[in-house]
Amino acid sequence: MYDELFKAAVKAAENAYCRYSGFHVGAALLSVDGRIFTGCNVENSSYSLTLCAERNAVFKAVSEGVTAFSAIAIAGSSTSDFSKPCVPCGSCLQVLSEFCGKGFPIILADGAYRLSDFLPVSFGKEYLR
Ligand SMILES: [Zn+2]
Repeated sequence: MYDELFKAAVKAAENAYCRYSGFHVGAALLSVDGRIFTGCNVENSSYSLTLCAERNAVFKAVSEGVTAFSAIAIAGSSTSDFSKPCVPCGSCLQVLSEFCGKGFPIILADGAYRLSDFLPVSFGKEYLR
């Protein structure tokens, strides 16, 4: 069901700017209206300014007015073999939690997970009211 989305994530990883780590990551974010927003990791010589593929994809979608998502696929590897799962980092999970519920599907190389599998609780907008 999510094969096409995962393939889009692998394709996005080809564009990774990862000259320092050599670790290519691609993300493919499916919106509820059926569009796919891709992102890759973009490293920086200052290291701390590096942006992950997942947040790149989310911010690309939001910048185009899309904030409702159905799933995200993530592919990461330091070789051309993307068969091992690449788990999203805590920052990306927090950003995903801004727009997606606990049941949001996260597709990795070894199968489908839920956002709550990696981030069971999170800070949210409910704390700010
Ligand atoms: Zn991340």
